[in-house]
Amino acid sequence: MSGYSSYENVVTTITNAAKTLNLSENEYISLIYPERELKVSFPVKMDDSTLRIFEGYRVQHSSFRGPCKGGIRFHPDSDIDEVKALAAWMTFKCAVAGIPYGGAKGAVKVDPSALSHDELERLTRRYTAMIAPIIGPERDIPAPDINTNGEVMGWIMDTYSMLKGYTVTGVVTGKPLDIGGSLGRPEATGRGVMITARECLRKSGVSLKDVTFAVQGMGNVGGTLAKLLYEHGATITAVSDVSGGVYKAEGLNIPEILGFINGKKRLLRDYDASCIAHITNAELIAADADVLIPAAIENQVTAENAASVKAKWIIEGANGPTTVAADEILESKGVVVVPDILANSGGVIVSYFEWVQNIQSLMWDEDEINRSLDNILCKAINDVYRCRGELGVSLRTAAYAVALNKLVNAKKARGIFP
Ligand code: GLU
Repeated sequence: MSGYSSYENVVTTITNAAKTLNLSENEYISLIYPERELKVSFPVKMDDSTLRIFEGYRVQHSSFRGPCKGGIRFHPDSDIDEVKALAAWMTFKCAVAGIPYGGAKGAVKVDPSALSHDELERLTRRYTAMIAPIIGPERDIPAPDINTNGEVMGWIMDTYSMLKGYTVTGVVTGKPLDIGGSLGRPEATGRGVMITARECLRKSGVSLKDVTFAVQGMGNVGGTLAKLLYEHGATITAVSDVSGGVYKAEGLNIPEILGFINGKKRLLRDYDASCIAHITNAELIAADADVLIPAAIENQVTAENAASVKAKWIIEGANGPTTVAADEILESKGVVVVPDILANSGGVIVSYFEWVQNIQSLMWDEDEINRSLDNILCKAINDVYRCRGELGVSLRTAAYAVALNKLVNAKKARGIFP
């Protein structure tokens, strides 16, 4: 949608929550402006020896509550407005979860599928060198996001360590296990969305097995989530990726679908099985399912398609999939929207465990990680539901209110420098 600003969307949401809490502008104004925005342009030598210039960003939204934290994405549509919004969402996400971080985000404007593996490595290393002056385990800790993974985090960790002259494991999270990564981190965001679905449905007296799901996105988040839901006996009627989706009223065979797309990097448009129908991503938003889980990118449920949503619950696996205008339509239809800053916080929660393990030079076992994730997330969910009850607002406003209270108190306790 042209003219759409993700950052304006965030500012509106923050302002609404601040008004609900009767905060004075002085108390929350700093959260409307990111603390630091870095835009970089840098050359990468391509395999054919030509040079190409790429643009990248790192935005640190807030460090009131601790070092800034947030992923890095490689995407051709990324721009500074999107990265500012994503950084702000991280601030609120970490505050709702109660983990001691502020928020940041980074991006390189690139289609990584158009680069060779070596070009991607050179791009990652040069981007890391460009943002190195402002990152570090005590300042700002990147992590994976769309189109980045453990291998990319390994290159970032190595580049930063080379620049420092010694190994710094805690500069990024989501690393491979052999270089200080954490058990459970690759699945953490999807697992967190599953836990959120389980708990939010339970509050309505429903179990995962009683309802049907539609999942948009079959990447790290959507793929893991669909697998976990399937293992818990849930029926998933629709899934999609960038190429479109598939629908089956009786429920899809998720392990078979994941085997198909992950094995040879194939797309869902080429998947076939008995009694499935191929659908578009637009049709997935309006698919017959009780729970819709957008787990791809921003701006998917909008004023244009919100009225067509059939689901009774939307659980936001992606960051910013629902616009402010869509929220209003969904609320009037009685759809329960569980916001991104709560629903997809499993990734950053386990990133926090990874960083703690790096700082302490020890390793937790996977059961401990998953148990601790469950505990932190359930507490955050209960806090948000309690706040919703007290203020009589949507879950999104309640989640922002819970976070705002913590951020405003932190700012008060620190005071203003100088
Ligand atoms: N990129 C993920 C998110 O949006 C994870 C961030 C992190 O682990 O720092 O929450």
